[in-house]
Amino acid sequence: MQIKRVCVYCASSSSCDSSYHGAAHQLGRLIAEAGITLVFGGGGKGSMGHLADGALSVGGRVIGVIPQFMSDLEWAHRGLSELVLTRDMHERKRLMIQEVDAVIALPGGCGTFEELFEAMAWKRLGIYGGPIIIVNTGDFYRPCVELLERSIAERFMDERHRGMWTVVERSDQVLDAIRNAPSWPAQNRDFAVI
Ligand code: AMP
Repeated sequence: MQIKRVCVYCASSSSCDSSYHGAAHQLGRLIAEAGITLVFGGGGKGSMGHLADGALSVGGRVIGVIPQFMSDLEWAHRGLSELVLTRDMHERKRLMIQEVDAVIALPGGCGTFEELFEAMAWKRLGIYGGPIIIVNTGDFYRPCVELLERSIAERFMDERHRGMWTVVERSDQVLDAIRNAPSWPAQNRDFAVI
């Protein structure tokens, strides 16, 4: 599978440990070095800023998708290849995931979680069929993965839904994880409701 375009969800925080920013910068660089277009939330600060700077530092193509109000607040990165302004958060999330070959979640806050979980919910329903890669920097996502496992154990989700996501420990494992992710055909919607 040729990866052409990926979407990364990550934090706006500038206050988190710098290792999270390092992981974002490395991921951006690796995506760009592989000739892949990076789509992200368009923020100039925090992990988002480092992600974009990593890709731009090696000449990558970076598309930010940000609501008009955030741009008005000067939250957007100003050096991107393209900045798409949206009416609202819903349009932004729809455009971010559109026509990407994979989505990737780095550690973050409620905004990152919301984006990650929407991608998962859409995949369960057959609306999105690509890989979902969770980057477990510093074991950040352990409680989240445990919650997902609990949800399966309690029969809110099927065992087969475990195949919707892949957890990797480091940014340099992301591209291989995308290539090796199990396929998710649209007929998997047949077990969306269990
Ligand atoms: P969070 O993980 O809560 O920091 O939220 C980050 C995610 O929410 C990003 O992927 C963005 O899509 C969106 N977001 C939240 N805050 C901002 C911001 N200040 N600038 C741009 N995007 C943001």
